[in-house]
Amino acid sequence: MSKNQNILIIGAGLCGSLLALRMAQRGFQVTLVEKRPDLRKIIQDAGRSINLALSDRGLRGLRIAGVEEAAKKLCIPMNGRMIHDKAGNTFLSPYSGRKNEYINSVSRPGLNMLLLDEAEKMPNVKIIFNHACENVDLENASAVFKEFNSDKEITISADVIFGTDGAGSAVRKNMYENHKFLFSFSQQWLGHGYKELEIPAAENNGYRTYKNALHIWPRGEDMLIALPNLDGSFTVTLFLPYENNDYCFANLTTPEMVHEYFNKEYPDVVEMIPNLSEEFFNNPIGPLGTVKCSPWNSFGKVLLLGDAAHAIVPFYGQGMNASFEDVVVFDEILEKYASEENINWNTILKEYESKRINDTDAIADLAVDNFHEMKEHTAMEIFQNKRKLETA
Ligand code: FAD
Repeated sequence: MSKNQNILIIGAGLCGSLLALRMAQRGFQVTLVEKRPDLRKIIQDAGRSINLALSDRGLRGLRIAGVEEAAKKLCIPMNGRMIHDKAGNTFLSPYSGRKNEYINSVSRPGLNMLLLDEAEKMPNVKIIFNHACENVDLENASAVFKEFNSDKEITISADVIFGTDGAGSAVRKNMYENHKFLFSFSQQWLGHGYKELEIPAAENNGYRTYKNALHIWPRGEDMLIALPNLDGSFTVTLFLPYENNDYCFANLTTPEMVHEYFNKEYPDVVEMIPNLSEEFFNNPIGPLGTVKCSPWNSFGKVLLLGDAAHAIVPFYGQGMNASFEDVVVFDEILEKYASEENINWNTILKEYESKRINDTDAIADLAVDNFHEMKEHTAMEIFQNKRKLETA
């Protein structure tokens, strides 16, 4: 396969930076362009999905790029779900009966920085920050980028373009506008939003609740979850309806209301978050939605991967994992054609989509189902089973 090909990757998040690294390892000339500043040089925004559950599916992607061991150093194993009831009772439900099976809590910026560092070490990778993709000429594989805080524009041409620019993808928007009724697109919002909070570390970087679990406080229509961080803190995510509920984002408008809600639903958490109402009002509310679209490929020149192709709600903890798996599947297809002298991108991009789309549709639907399962049933069933065991 001729490696003298220019690859343009738009979006240096988790998927784009892993893809850039892997394509560079395969010998391609890679340009990776990111809208935001280099996250290694700035202070992170508060309240934006700080840690994630990384499973074996995602680790496979890191493994093929040779960064699995380095990534594991950023991880905390979580052996099961720890359910918290309103009275403060807890119950650990292991993920597996087998020993040594767990998922990992990993820092999103930590993992992203690792992938950027590794990509940047490659002589055939160029990374450009602070440039947002404005427009893509799909037929000719070139894209226009606008520099942050300036009117300056640059155009970058390539042999093939990958749109890894996340759930609100500008690349996908270009496909939608260009292909009109030949491009199917759906976006379904959940009616719930999320807000991140922090349980700070206890003294000497100790943990204020059990370290090696994914914590869940299921309450019917709303729910809290918390994942551990290496510094002893937990990132807490509140999932709450936007409106039309006794407790919803629209109604929680004062510190008193926030405290009343938390005291009623999550009294054990109130003790662990000293700056509850400040954090509640400082941190943004994020939307939760599912994006499906097809085709992912345009003119055999542009391909969507990661959330740009298939954004899902986070209740299976599989969005990043599926995005890393995209890179694995794409890499397998490249390998299949590696001995051919000329690259037929059209064939490769189409084959990738047909191999991948059923799986990503399936995880999208499972993730919505698991939202209802987690918030409504998890606690009830687990506590009922526990009671049965205790009275047997
Ligand atoms: P992103 O991470 O969104 O990266 C896209 C990148 O493109 C960003 O850097 C962005 O700045 C850049 N960009 C955007 N527009 C442009 C443009 N016009 N030009 C140039 N660059 C652009 N997944 C899991 O596997 N496990 C979890 O536990 C988990 N928890 C989650 C919790 C929450 C609350 C949420 C919201 C998501 C969660 N996810 C989880 C999903 C996960 O965050 C995403 O699936 C993952 O980030 C997708 O990676 P990506 O690289 O495709 O997109």
